[in-house]
Amino acid sequence: MSTFLELQQNQHSLGLYCLHCNRWGIADLQGLIDTGRGNSAVTGARFRCQDCGSIVQKQLRPPAPSLGDTARYI
Ligand SMILES: [Zn+2]
Repeated sequence: MSTFLELQQNQHSLGLYCLHCNRWGIADLQGLIDTGRGNSAVTGARFRCQDCGSIVQKQLRPPAPSLGDTARYI
């Protein structure tokens, strides 16, 4: 996996962490794809914190099976 589109197709999410604010977020993959960045390389992409403007850390997250298990029992 190397692009935002591939991440989404494989049901991964991209966690974003701002060291300055000590806060986690999730990249809006669908929004990136909708605005034509779906084929951009994840490794080269930079995200800025909306609050402080710092370049944030990125963390790839595989699909979380626990969430799926929960949904089956609702
Ligand atoms: Zn911040």
